[in-house]
Amino acid sequence: LRHADQAMYQAKADGRNRYRIYEHLAGLPCVVNQRPSRMELALGEVGQGLVQNQFCLYYQPKVNIKTGEIIGLEALIRWQHPELGLLPPNEFLPLIENTSLEIDVSNWVLRQTFKQLQRWNKLGLRLQVSVNISPRHLQWPDFIRTLEILLLEYPQISSAQLELEVLESSVLEDLVSVGETLKQCYRELGISSALDDFGTGYSSLAHLRHLTINTVKIDQSFVRNMLDDPDDMAIVESVIALARAFKREVVAEGLEDIEHGVFLIGLGCYAAQGRFIAAPMPADEVQDWAKHYQNPPTWSQANKHPPNSWQNQLELLALQQHYWQRSIEQCLQPKTPRQAQWPILNAKKSHLGKWLERLGNQHHIDARLLEQIMQAQAQQHVLAAKLQRSHRNGEFSGVGEDVEQLRVATLTIVQLLAEFELLA
Ligand code: C2E
Ligand code: MG
Ligand code: MG
Repeated sequence: LRHADQAMYQAKADGRNRYRIYEHLAGLPCVVNQRPSRMELALGEVGQGLVQNQFCLYYQPKVNIKTGEIIGLEALIRWQHPELGLLPPNEFLPLIENTSLEIDVSNWVLRQTFKQLQRWNKLGLRLQVSVNISPRHLQWPDFIRTLEILLLEYPQISSAQLELEVLESSVLEDLVSVGETLKQCYRELGISSALDDFGTGYSSLAHLRHLTINTVKIDQSFVRNMLDDPDDMAIVESVIALARAFKREVVAEGLEDIEHGVFLIGLGCYAAQGRFIAAPMPADEVQDWAKHYQNPPTWSQANKHPPNSWQNQLELLALQQHYWQRSIEQCLQPKTPRQAQWPILNAKKSHLGKWLERLGNQHHIDARLLEQIMQAQAQQHVLAAKLQRSHRNGEFSGVGEDVEQLRVATLTIVQLLAEFELLA
């Protein structure tokens, strides 16, 4: 909703009576004018694409960010369109939604996954692949039968090598029948499932409790924003706690920066997927990638303290400060669109602001240190707001000096946080 709001404001700012689209460009969220113009695709074309073998699967790894171990891969469909190039799923899957073609394409994805698993198995690479299952496919009467046939056709593939990813929203469409199918898949076939994009639907404790779901995938929007927005972090934290309480695995999606990894480890989530680890890649690149992949050393060194400890909180706050500073400097880059979304500039709504608020009434806290942090933070946010104004108005004089002062304020906060840690 926040993203939709931003797009609306931009449309109004540009003179109303028009639309604007919210998108992530170069890793930065912003509102853009229009999508790159593309020919309207028609349903018939998708059918033709299937017949002419123009679809392919890309694979994105999921890793343990603590140990570097590869947990599995997610299969993601692409269309190698003869004229338009490689198309992502959201450009063509909506066209075939609720048609019989959707079932054909979905079955093609399943079969293709089995074929690929077989190839990898022969190379000695025993991997688990997750496949995204659409709500209609999941409710198709022959769904389980199709899986059974594939397992019989490919006896070398263990059912544990396959995982079904279902959207939280699709489960809610028909909780009873979907729940039954997932249960059967697991109990009779040994195929486990994951709840995808968790947090975006009306997640409920009751649903999680009654579903035969082994894994919960935290939606990428929360992970991406958690270092900036304490509310997003609160969602990530609670999904992790919820998964733990119900003894489910948890995977974070959308890990785009090294800091996301450190933060997730700090929060106690060790399985993740995202562009920082690897973007989705063609099948023939997977083996080489798996051979060379290593976690950045900062990840294995992270989490020396328990997730809720005081030291851990302080370290994450310091990390968040560096990240905030970097995001501001990134927003100021000449190539960053002027409409790009800035990190939170309201001191009270920031991570540090909320933390200070929580500390406010605890008497054992060193008041002098607190006061110094608050002062530096106030200065930080005045400077950042000034920089934002200059950037939006296209004024560049004095920006360098303000950035320098901002760095000093941020470093001061980081040092004060370290003093707090020493006191602990
Ligand atoms: P999903 O299942 O949540 O898959 C993750 C999506 O996030 C993928 O987009 C992936 O490329 C993208 N992604 C990965 N890492 C990052 C990151 O660090 N940052 C950001 N911003 N994005 C990242 P993709 O491949 O475009 O797929 C979009 C959605 O289309 C998927 O979301 C899934 O719901 C659906 N989809 C993909 N393949 C299939 C399929 O074979 N069948 C069905 N039914 N749906 C599919
Ligand atoms: Mg998925
Ligand atoms: Mg997802």
